[in-house]
Amino acid sequence: MRDDLLVFGTPKIEQEEIDEVVDTLRSGWLGTGPKVGRFESAFAAYKEAPYAAALNSCSAGLHLSLLVLDLKPGDEVITTPMTFCATVNAIIHAGGTPVLADVDPVTGNIDPRHIRHCITERTKVLLPVHYAGRACEMDPICALAAEHGLRIVEDCAHAIETEYRGRKAGTFGDIGAFSFYVTKNVATGEGGMVISSDQKLIARIRELALHGMSRDAWKRFEDSDKIHYTITEPGFKYNMMDLQAAIGIHQLARVEKNWLRRAQIWAAYSRELADLPITLPAPVVSDTRHAYHLFTIQVGEAEAGIDRDEFIRRMKKRLVSASVHYRSIPEFEYYQHRFGWRPQQWRNAMNIGRRTVSLPLSPRMSDADVESVIEATREILLGVRAARLPLPIAAGSGAGARIEQGDYAWVHDGD
Ligand SMILES: *Cc1c(COP(=O)(O)O)cnc(C)c1O
Repeated sequence: MRDDLLVFGTPKIEQEEIDEVVDTLRSGWLGTGPKVGRFESAFAAYKEAPYAAALNSCSAGLHLSLLVLDLKPGDEVITTPMTFCATVNAIIHAGGTPVLADVDPVTGNIDPRHIRHCITERTKVLLPVHYAGRACEMDPICALAAEHGLRIVEDCAHAIETEYRGRKAGTFGDIGAFSFYVTKNVATGEGGMVISSDQKLIARIRELALHGMSRDAWKRFEDSDKIHYTITEPGFKYNMMDLQAAIGIHQLARVEKNWLRRAQIWAAYSRELADLPITLPAPVVSDTRHAYHLFTIQVGEAEAGIDRDEFIRRMKKRLVSASVHYRSIPEFEYYQHRFGWRPQQWRNAMNIGRRTVSLPLSPRMSDADVESVIEATREILLGVRAARLPLPIAAGSGAGARIEQGDYAWVHDGD
């Protein structure tokens, strides 16, 4: 057993980040400045996107994305119940009405068949989330958007490295929003970015992120010295600081190296936990690239003998902190009161949300850390099994691992 707590989602900060932050502090330019510009250019290049704007969070990115798509009160935005509350809150803040489409029970991603059933004449935007770093089925989603004249905003908080059929996540729709929160694959503490191929959308997001201030608009009034700015609309305070970009520049430079390390850990978990009475993440489909953001297992009382919460408590006793991503959105009181939602209405998301556990998956983890997670998981689940012997082991062992690629064919078979 470990002798110190393995904290969930600690970022790997190296000397370059530390030196760059110190350089920023010495320069006296802490706020939005040249380093934010450098970070934006590097991120746009990495994502093969024409335009990028750095913000102080992905939540801000989602909020502004919906605003610049001119969401009107009552406009419906279809998203997934298997996401962080920020996705749904952004829709509410932008004045829209969130509509949930259930997820695929195997992948946890929004199911295009369910999206189709949710589309009404009020639907304006589709907001898919690439859950855990696994690409959503973007072909059918884009086809639905084209068919019904809908805009697409991608929540790419988990999906910095994700690709689908050779294309980068965040470039399928009108805007892609990314997070650099501490636990995310590129971490700046707090931070976010939006990308788009539409220069006008990005320009308006930039203005809205800084109070709605514009120096360009003022040019029209022939103030060529740009002494003054004007206010084009009431904006927000959502800009990124150079202090954050200083970290992000070096985190991004190491994004592929860190991805490789997480891929190794992912493979070790998949191999070493395959015989346990739990469900592992669905295998990665060819022609897509998984960002390996979350390694989620499902622990159900019927198969494992203990429920998810008890599993987490026992992991904590073994000094491994595991986390939950996510209880489905309709489990939360506010949404139940406001929209009358009940978890049972989105059964797949509810089932995943009540069983899912994310094991630590950080490039900072040593081989010994990885071993300790595997050991703790095996001890707990085999311990339960031993205590139940000689009862036969329930079915469902490693169910995810047995899903073949052909099982995804439904997406294209003419629904
Ligand atoms: C983290 C996260 C967000 C919010 O990102 P912030 O940068 O913390 O605002 C939004 N959506 C999903 C799916 C997330 O995981």
